Amino acid sequence: MTSNGKTISVNGRAYKAPERPTVVICLDGSEPGYVEKAIEAGLAPTFARFMKDGAHVHASSVIPSFTNPNNLSIITGRPPAIHGIAGNYFYDIDSGTEVMMNDPRFLRAPTILAGVHSAGYKVAAVTAKDKLHALLADGLDYSTGRAIAFSSEKADQATVKDNGIDNVLEFVGLPLPEVYSADLSRFVFAAGVKLIEIHRPDLMYLSTTDYIQHKTAPGTKLANDFYAMIDFYLAKLDALGCNIVATADHGMNDKHLANGEPDVIYLQDLVDRWIGKGNTRVILPITDPYVAHHGSLGSFATVYTGEVSVEDLLPRLRDVDGVELALTRKEACARFELPADRIGDIVIISSRHKVLGTSRDRHDLSGLTERLRSHGGLTEERVPLIANRKITLPPGHLLRNFDAFDVALNRIQ
Ligand SMILES: [Zn+2]
Repeated sequence: MTSNGKTISVNGRAYKAPERPTVVICLDGSEPGYVEKAIEAGLAPTFARFMKDGAHVHASSVIPSFTNPNNLSIITGRPPAIHGIAGNYFYDIDSGTEVMMNDPRFLRAPTILAGVHSAGYKVAAVTAKDKLHALLADGLDYSTGRAIAFSSEKADQATVKDNGIDNVLEFVGLPLPEVYSADLSRFVFAAGVKLIEIHRPDLMYLSTTDYIQHKTAPGTKLANDFYAMIDFYLAKLDALGCNIVATADHGMNDKHLANGEPDVIYLQDLVDRWIGKGNTRVILPITDPYVAHHGSLGSFATVYTGEVSVEDLLPRLRDVDGVELALTRKEACARFELPADRIGDIVIISSRHKVLGTSRDRHDLSGLTERLRSHGGLTEERVPLIANRKITLPPGHLLRNFDAFDVALNRIQ
């Protein structure tokens, strides 16, 4: 495949056609410090080389600093206002139900992967959890033989018809990993390396899971071993001649009290005390079927106020200890580029070490075996962006994590 300087336009941004295999990686929950600590421990020489000889900068994530909005921003190159995925859940006022947004029908913009694929190139995507798979794979036509996409979680169920590949466990040479494990991410990388070796896609997206980052802070043995594992596979991708850009969907912070209990503001309980039950609905867009590691507790919430006056509620919410920001829908959508029809009347963001809940009795915290670490707010907005080659950015350019494909295809040397 020759590109002859061809460019491909997706969502109003132009991307140069890949001239060598190009890999964009989302290291889920990679708060700045994880990679650095692993390097200090002598366990991440490839990261160290990339950061010295290639590029290492910080970028801002999308707010809410949650997994799906950011993965979809990275793979579409645009904020949630354009692609529509503002969290795992939104509240459908018409039907009065909380709707999960993991189906491609909620996606309002094509992915860069699909755009490059439509232009005739070979593409691949591997994600850890299956909740992202359908969204990331949207628009790929497996009948062309130029697209492969699957999740580690359901690797054993991949078929040529639905994923562009079958017998994935045999292909990768690893058993099916547990969903709550570091091995779920290892599988992503092992698969990525095999795909480059055997299928040589022109463009590939790899997305891991933040199981380890929810569990442990930078610098622990568990964290360092995880980044050493990633380092091992990055070295292989680099040796295979790939352009590599790795960023993150969000950071991660401790969200607990000194006694180890989660530090929660139960918003629904609070608002119900003020104005009575049944008048408002607090939605936590972090909620998903995989609650064990965060108990649905993050630093971003949205409130549907019904008949209750937003003007009355806002100042009271702003006064709550640990509420960093309370904005009207209009203010939040303007500031964070969010889709207005999938956000409540009020958006609330908590401070670094606090999380937002609905009602105390609606959170099952029995799965929280560790002290809570989570994300969602402004304090988890800063993420690393690391490339294996030098990159050229325009002076004063405020980098977003969703510039990762732009960096990988247009700005890498
Ligand atoms: Zn994440």
